[in-house]
Amino acid sequence: MLKLQFLGAAGQVTGSKYFLHTSTSRGMLVDCGLFQGGRKLREMNWTDLAISAGNIGHILITHAHLDHIGFLPRLVKRGYHNPIFATKATIEIAGYVLRDSGHLQEEDAKHANKHGYARHSPALPLYTSQDAEEALNLFQPIERGNKKLIQDNVSATYYNAGHILGSCFVHIEKKYEDRDPITVLFSGDLGRRKPIYLKPKDSAPAADYIICESTYGDRLHKNIDALDELKAMIVEAINTSSVLLIPAFAVDRSQELLFCLNALMRDGKIPDTLPVYVDSPMAAGVTDIYDKFSEEHIFSQEELNEPDKNPIRFKSLKVITTPEQSKHLNDINGPAVIISASGMATGGRIMHHLLHRLANLDTIVLFTGYQAEETLGRELIEGNTNVHIMGTQVQVRARIRKLNSYSGHGDQSELLDWLKSSPKAPKAVFLTHGEDSARKVFKEKIESELGWKVILPHLGEIFDLEAESI
Ligand SMILES: [Zn+2]
Repeated sequence: MLKLQFLGAAGQVTGSKYFLHTSTSRGMLVDCGLFQGGRKLREMNWTDLAISAGNIGHILITHAHLDHIGFLPRLVKRGYHNPIFATKATIEIAGYVLRDSGHLQEEDAKHANKHGYARHSPALPLYTSQDAEEALNLFQPIERGNKKLIQDNVSATYYNAGHILGSCFVHIEKKYEDRDPITVLFSGDLGRRKPIYLKPKDSAPAADYIICESTYGDRLHKNIDALDELKAMIVEAINTSSVLLIPAFAVDRSQELLFCLNALMRDGKIPDTLPVYVDSPMAAGVTDIYDKFSEEHIFSQEELNEPDKNPIRFKSLKVITTPEQSKHLNDINGPAVIISASGMATGGRIMHHLLHRLANLDTIVLFTGYQAEETLGRELIEGNTNVHIMGTQVQVRARIRKLNSYSGHGDQSELLDWLKSSPKAPKAVFLTHGEDSARKVFKEKIESELGWKVILPHLGEIFDLEAESI
């Protein structure tokens, strides 16, 4: 038996979870992400999976973003106790992401109870920090490029996806005694053709079926220099004595911003005295991981070891760790930069900064990446001037801006190039991890350019990969 079931990111961008039924009673889950965004999406996290935890033999993780790993503690709480495979860098980052997520789930429930905006009384956390610890104990490292036998007759090979530190796409092969093997390629999230400092992604190996992300399947990234675009924002903040408040994913996007700020300062394009605050213990922790995994990026060990040469640390940078220090940031005036997670303003310390500063004329809120439907980030970039944050209505007077040159995801042409890099045409491509509008456009593009069969799976849909045609 080899059936593929879509348990998330099928018609939406978040909640990546794909289950391969490898026998009648068992199978493996590829990614185990949280649904993020509006209430309807978040409530989907409370629904038990269509597959019981006891039927999942193994979990394969592509990378450590919350929408790919954030459901793991919930699954562990529901009885999953088998191995979770990921690269070493992914495991390290997952440590920060899942502990933080467990803590935030607890805090959100506490906050909702205290301020009386809980829909359920009392509000309960989806999972706790303890559940996150238990999930972390199940991780086992897997090396890129080495084919590893996972279950009877089923093996997996990890390749570099160039999306964030440790990120991979996964090639799965099931062998049979009486027929040719069947191969399935899960793209995970695919990085840019030329990432800012990560090593670029590998070519796609041949596969019978490809499950491909389609976040930007309907558009091309503008060809703008990342440094020039960021510099223009800094100059605006300096000229108007504003605080530049940047919601940024703690993993990679925060470090990319630090890298670019540092480069602008070293080149004398912005003052090296400009105060930059990173208000995210997770971003600070992840920055340390860069020192350990030099094979993932272009920085040399010498650069990382010497404070004067370090590409992601500089002297006007202050890392905020405690909640008290974070509250003190409410008192600072511009010009200054505050970088805080989460990147789509769906939780974390950025919510407190937005609550405090959105009504101020001397604030610029700068979004740096994809904003999913029904997130506060999406509301703000669409020009909504009245928003709700943690039960409080806020009038938006701050200037809302968006950087177009920073993206961890390839655009339509980059995704298409990666598909084309596969040495043979697959029997079908399943498009996931994209809003319906994006994946419909990308489907037409693949069909017209490559002539391949493209399927847009629905949530819960199952496909028999052993069938003659699907
Ligand atoms: Zn990702």
